[in-house]
Amino acid sequence: MLNFTKFERVNPEKRDVLQRLKDYKEVYQVFTENKAREQADRCMQCGDPYCHTGCPLGNYIPAWLKQIATKDSKLAFSLSNQTSPFPEILGKICPHDVLCEGACSLNTGHGAVSIGAIETYISESAFETGMKPEFKAQKNGKKVAIIGSGPSGISAATFLLRRGFEVEMFERANKAGGLLMYGIPGFKLDKTAVDRRVNWLVEAGMKLNLNCEIGHDKKVSQLEKEFDAIYLAIGSTLSNKANIEGEEALNVHFAIDFLTGIQKRELGYKDAKYINVEDKKVVVIGGGDTAMDCVRTSVRENASSVKCLYRRDEINMPGSKKEVVNAKEEGVEFVFNVSPKSIKVKDSSAIAVELLKTTMSKPDSSGRQKVEINKGSEYLEEADVIILALGFSPEVPSFLKELNIETNSWGAVVINKEFKTSNKKVYAGGDCSRGAHLAVTAALDGREAAKAIVKDLL
Ligand code: SF4
Repeated sequence: MLNFTKFERVNPEKRDVLQRLKDYKEVYQVFTENKAREQADRCMQCGDPYCHTGCPLGNYIPAWLKQIATKDSKLAFSLSNQTSPFPEILGKICPHDVLCEGACSLNTGHGAVSIGAIETYISESAFETGMKPEFKAQKNGKKVAIIGSGPSGISAATFLLRRGFEVEMFERANKAGGLLMYGIPGFKLDKTAVDRRVNWLVEAGMKLNLNCEIGHDKKVSQLEKEFDAIYLAIGSTLSNKANIEGEEALNVHFAIDFLTGIQKRELGYKDAKYINVEDKKVVVIGGGDTAMDCVRTSVRENASSVKCLYRRDEINMPGSKKEVVNAKEEGVEFVFNVSPKSIKVKDSSAIAVELLKTTMSKPDSSGRQKVEINKGSEYLEEADVIILALGFSPEVPSFLKELNIETNSWGAVVINKEFKTSNKKVYAGGDCSRGAHLAVTAALDGREAAKAIVKDLL
């Protein structure tokens, strides 16, 4: 260990840009054994490891780095899977630069340990040797229904199955995984990784009901009667509008509709309806990870030009920096410090976005900078297709009312510190209660809600 002066930080290798633009296969390669060992060997084994605090799941990062560096892959796999429901997935999709790696003590000088890539290596290399997660607990006779199969639902199911609960999952789509399956493009996360985790849950005894919408295909009152607890993991699925004139035009789309349609086509759905952007000028409004997914998808769909319009500057972009770098490499153009004022429409179709230039204010005492609009700075950005990637709000399905679940003014399910809703049998977590956030925080909520259920029912 402590070999950070001997070895430089490296990222996993990326596929050549021209090759990766031709398909939806993952951009990053998994570390080789030697590279993973060498990179893990850079860890300083801090007494009070900031990386552990920077990871929402509180992963035992220095412990598994040490096991990889000293060649105990089995123990590394076991430690890594103890706190995380799907470490190989989060190792790929977490914005590491603002979480574990951002907090690593080496980050300010020698370069953070490549934590995410090593995390993926630990599980992927273990799977290759036939290792898989264990669900050994004796059945305890208690039954939990999970509504929603995204990261929060999968996480809750994992930790409940490990404690011997009978778990039944209800998903309205025809494939499990939620945003892991449909929201995140294949070039960031191969869908077989999601199927693999779901299949292991089914193997461990979870009953999975697909195409099953609660309140439509199954009454929620039935769930209340049949189960000892219900976990709501319904996500935050309503796309936010820009609230500007012209956004109802035919060729203005929400990011999730764009991403889902193409993902369904890539999964081979015969009836997949997707938004065709070939040879079109695509403009994506927004600067988060979903916006990056849209611009990078558009270049793969052979758009004639792809621009990302963001109202702040590059430093203040909210998503993962590596995704911005990847987007630039793939030919995306960024226009910073612009705010949409209206969408110009001709014959029901958008032809341009009217933009106002912005300036970032000086930081206030908390370091926050405001966006200031420059009056009279309007100009037009031509577009054939406009994609709005402005975040999500929680959907409020009617069954919440039937369950007497309290929601707040923006539609999020109200929970207490133990993840309990206003109905004592019902728990909730992830984006439906905290608002749209990261897969890793949804996984955290699923794990912690499972602990609360264990505490209440056993
Ligand atoms: Fe880092 Fe995310 Fe893995 Fe935590 S789960 S160690 S934040 S990559």
